Amino acid sequence: MNQHEEVLNIEKQQFLHQTNLVYYGTVGMALFLIPYMAVIGNLFVVLLNVLGLLVAVTAVVLNRKGQYLLASLLFLMIITFNSSAHAVVFGLSAGFGYYFLNQAGLIIYTNWRKSWKLIGVVIQFMALVGVFVFYQVQGPLIELAFGHLIFLHALNGALNIIGVANSANYFLRIAGRANETLATLAYTDYLTGLPNRTALEGLLNDAFDEQNNKAKGIGIMMIDVDHFKLINDEYGHVFGDKVLKHVADTLKAHPSHEQIIARYGGEEFIVITFCDTPQCVYDKAEATRKRIEASKLTVADTDVEVTVSIGTVFKPIGYNIEQLTLLDMADACLYQAKRSGRNNVVSKILNQ
Ligand code: GH3
Ligand code: MG
Ligand code: MG
Repeated sequence: MNQHEEVLNIEKQQFLHQTNLVYYGTVGMALFLIPYMAVIGNLFVVLLNVLGLLVAVTAVVLNRKGQYLLASLLFLMIITFNSSAHAVVFGLSAGFGYYFLNQAGLIIYTNWRKSWKLIGVVIQFMALVGVFVFYQVQGPLIELAFGHLIFLHALNGALNIIGVANSANYFLRIAGRANETLATLAYTDYLTGLPNRTALEGLLNDAFDEQNNKAKGIGIMMIDVDHFKLINDEYGHVFGDKVLKHVADTLKAHPSHEQIIARYGGEEFIVITFCDTPQCVYDKAEATRKRIEASKLTVADTDVEVTVSIGTVFKPIGYNIEQLTLLDMADACLYQAKRSGRNNVVSKILNQ
């Protein structure tokens, strides 16, 4: 599963979880209301709650089968009818009018088409107004004792407040996750999975901070694949991409955990490492160069040699220098490495 599919799958799971929560909540509510309504209401309201129970169970089953649209459509139609009927029977003061607001919210997060959503919300509004007019003209069909009225109002009020808070939380979670995904994508190179150039500035800042904690110097390696254009020309860009991935994987497989790797540009990589001496940076760069040289890639039964040239610079602890200057110095060393024949390491030492 790729990153995009994974995000979609997580969102689908969240949507399923959220709608199931509503359906299960309705099942629980109906199981409580059926005997309660048998005591305070009449056969009609008992049957309404049996219908609510059946529809909520059906919605759960349909959700399991992946028929989310049918589940939400059926559920919202019956529940709108149900809350309208309850409000007509017991009057608006029993708190059944709150459900219209919540149902409008539920309609917004279904996967219906926009025009359906609009119709759904308008129906909620019309039902609310209709019930209000009926209530003003006719009054409740069943007059409840004050205690029952207070209890039902409190129950319906509480359930609706929980519903609204839960929906708001759901949307916040989705927005938060979308933000995280975007940030990850913006700072990650798609091909190699390494941090990209945009991320590099932050990584260098972190390394500068960490240097003080570690009481070590910083080594920067600028790594460039040798004659990469020839590889592309000879074997094609798709193979060229494989070479870049291979180099990135070889860099990632480095035994030292104390290093940060980024893709700087086309076939250029940056490694930030912590060292006590310039020799240590040079040794690490030389080991990296050798590892890449030793790793062979095969295309159509032919081994393709991949080598890199590396420019390094060592910044001792306490040495004040701009990040960009440091990168420029590593780049100048890389240029020297290329000029002196490629597949080698050239280092710069900064004296304190
Ligand atoms: P040198 O040894 O001097 O570094 O030579 P070179 O051929 O590696 O360097 P040059 O800068 O001439 O060529 C780099 C090539 O890298 C050119 C460009 O088409 C290729 N390239 C850059 N990004 C990608 C990529 O993402 N995939 C592939 N396949 N090629 C890329
Ligand atoms: Mg280059
Ligand atoms: Mg190159």
